[in-house]
Parts: sequence; structure tokens; C-alpha cells
Amino acid sequence: MSESTDCLFCKIIKGEIPSAKVYEDETTYAFKDINPKAKVHVLVVPRRHYANVAELAKDDPAELAHIVEVAQSIADKEFHGAYRLVFNTGLDAGQTVFHVHAHVLTGETLDE
Ligand code: AMP
Ligand code: ZN
Repeated sequence: MSESTDCLFCKIIKGEIPSAKVYEDETTYAFKDINPKAKVHVLVVPRRHYANVAELAKDDPAELAHIVEVAQSIADKEFHGAYRLVFNTGLDAGQTVFHVHAHVLTGETLDE
């Protein structure tokens, strides 16, 4: 784990780049995806910088569990608790920002 000064999501968390905040607490920040793939598309990130979900799971499993809790509470509010949770991991899987983020897709019925 090392904070990257060049990391887009670290800058968003610090407020250096604007975002549409959905939720925040001491360890975790959630904001709307700028290019939504569902009616509600929220990114949930740990404040601490980890490159991907595997690093987070290894170093801080409680934070990963908390991210799932935050995703659940967003979906409880937006769509009776139903949601898709995606962690793109690696360039070839479509990861473009290397600060771990959960995509929470909800707010409407999703295609299989
Ligand atoms: P991934 O491709 O899994 O790494 O996801 C990165 C996500 O970040 C994409 O869905 C982008 O639309 C989203 N994104 C990129 N820049 C911003 C931004 N400034 N504010 C909110 N979401 C962003
Ligand atoms: Zn970062």
C-alpha cells in the first residue's frame, strides 16, 4: 500500500478533483461514476490507496467487508437491496484506475 500522488481517486478523496459524493465515513468514500452504466452507478473506495481488490483483501479484509456493507446500504435505498458489485482487476479486465473501487450498479433491473 502506498499513496500515489498521481492517483485520480486519491485526488477525488482529498477533494482536489470534484466528485458527486454519495456517502463518506472515516475509512471509505463513495461517489457517482462519471460515465454511468446503470441508472445508479456508484464507486465505493477505501480512503487508503490499494491498487486492486486482491491487495485490499490481503492487507485489510475488514475494509473490503465494509465496502460491501456500504454497497448494500446504497442498494437498500435505491433498489430494494438488489445490486451488482464489480471489481475490475488488471488492465486486460478493464481496470483503468489503479485505486481499488467497487462499482455498485443498481436502481433498475439489470441484464444478466
Ligand atoms: P475501472 O475501469 O473499473 O477502473 O473503473 C474506473 C471508473 O472510473 C470508470 O467507470 C469511469 O467512468 C470512472 N471515472 C473516471 N474518472 C472519474 C471521475 N472524475 N469521477 C467519477 N468517476 C470517474
Ligand atoms: Zn489512490
